[in-house]
Amino acid sequence: MGLTKHYDAVIIGGGIGGLMCAYRLSERRPDMKVVILERGKDLENRKCPILTGAVSKCIKCKSCAIMEGMAGAGAFSDGKYNITTEYGGWLPRVMDEKKVMDYILQADSILVEHGAQKEVYEPDNELKTLCLQHDLHMQQARVKHLGTDANFGTMLRLISDLKQRIEIITEATVTDVKKDTREVVYVKKNEEHIISGDVVIFAVGRIGNRMFEKWCDNNGILRHNNQVDIGVRVELPYEVWKHFSSRIYEPKIINRSSHYADRTRMFCFNERGHVVTENSDGVLTVNGHSYKEEERKSANSNFALLCSTNFTEPFNEPVEYARDIAALANKISGGFVLVQRYGDLMAGKRTTEHRLKAGTVRPTLDAVPGDLSLCMPKRQLDNIVETIQKLDEIAPGTANYDTLLYGVECKYYSARPDVTDFELNDAKGIYALGDGAGFTRSLSQAAANGLIVADIILNRQ
Ligand SMILES: Cc1cc2nc3c(=O)[nH]c(=O)nc-3n(C[C@H](O)[C@H](O)[C@H](O)COP(=O)(O)OP(=O)(O)OC[C@H]3O[C@@H](n4cnc5c(N)ncnc54)[C@H](O)[C@@H]3O)c2cc1C
Repeated sequence: MGLTKHYDAVIIGGGIGGLMCAYRLSERRPDMKVVILERGKDLENRKCPILTGAVSKCIKCKSCAIMEGMAGAGAFSDGKYNITTEYGGWLPRVMDEKKVMDYILQADSILVEHGAQKEVYEPDNELKTLCLQHDLHMQQARVKHLGTDANFGTMLRLISDLKQRIEIITEATVTDVKKDTREVVYVKKNEEHIISGDVVIFAVGRIGNRMFEKWCDNNGILRHNNQVDIGVRVELPYEVWKHFSSRIYEPKIINRSSHYADRTRMFCFNERGHVVTENSDGVLTVNGHSYKEEERKSANSNFALLCSTNFTEPFNEPVEYARDIAALANKISGGFVLVQRYGDLMAGKRTTEHRLKAGTVRPTLDAVPGDLSLCMPKRQLDNIVETIQKLDEIAPGTANYDTLLYGVECKYYSARPDVTDFELNDAKGIYALGDGAGFTRSLSQAAANGLIVADIILNRQ
């Protein structure tokens, strides 16, 4: 099909980064013609069959409702909004830290205008001291717990507000962007369409990172590798971490391992939550959720325990490395994700259905009992075991025999493209932001990044 429409701005991806960018552009310049192209469904039609209770295991839907669709990967997230520049992305490396914080607060105000809560958990120095006494390092932040259900409502209101001012085309997968003409090719219902924009913004998130990296390579845009985080999701009775979570909501603790000096992070804590699967372009990994409503809470808390690796020359495919490890875990579990009791792992035994049932922690995800040591590299596994043992010193019970470890959880961050003020070098008018471009890895920084890019575009006009 030929060129159909021209816009002032074409935004690829309807996650929080793309939404905030569209919001700022249309708020400051109501005359601007802005379109969001989103490969997933409208928010109200995003239904993960596991969350609706239709199935107990991931059936690898063609479009993963957890990762794709309006509101992006954050839509069913627990909605922890971190008001900090200490973690959650790398924006402070490319611009002034105070400005980043200012934008995080601006994005928060927009969310509050659309119904997000105002309550904030404040940092706690006593707990930080306790961690330090055990050579553990707690990252401090002000944090809001939006809650999976309340966050969903806020995003619905934000999107419906935006629909009054801009165009949103869902189930539209962008397959190419012509670097010189900024023509954007997308496929909807098996039909190819082409539109163009004065500016084009890649806000494709982690799910779109492979497409974006390939596009950069094909168009001669240099990329800089990012770290890759590999590990497990830990699930245990909620009482074990209650003394932390009741005071700061989310403990984020770093252990520098004694043998390798690697950083292993405990984060993405979900009190009385559920472990869930994530379908990242055909590979199943794990993650966690928690709900605000009492009746949807479980008896367990869960958190990610991930070990960071930065590859240097000659290897430059960290994302593929993580995907291969996760794919191996899928392979040995018959196409799903694994769960193993910590005690079984330490005893060198596979967890079986029988052993899992004999345990005292009831899994919230129907994963396949197995043996993580068969798919996780030694280095990462050593780091995880050491960190569990150290966390047990500040939260006794963490290293109990029945503590459940789900694998593999990995967070891979896109390689950062060469940019000047988020405009791709050598691709005039084409911008990149958020998780898909390796600048962020959290709702708050991705939201801030959307506003930042919009302001840069507005200031240049
Ligand atoms: C289960 C889960 C829980 C999380 N919990 C939290 C949390 O509590 N707190 C926190 O700070 N962060 C959390 N995160 C991370 C957070 O959701 C992300 O950091 C954030 O959503 C990134 O925003 P983004 O706009 O950059 O990308 P995304 O939100 O990933 O949005 C990108 C969008 O682009 C679309 N897209 C991709 N490729 C194309 C294409 N070719 N054509 C058209 N559209 C395309 C995708 O479908 C997607 O909707 C969680 C993530 C997950 C998956």
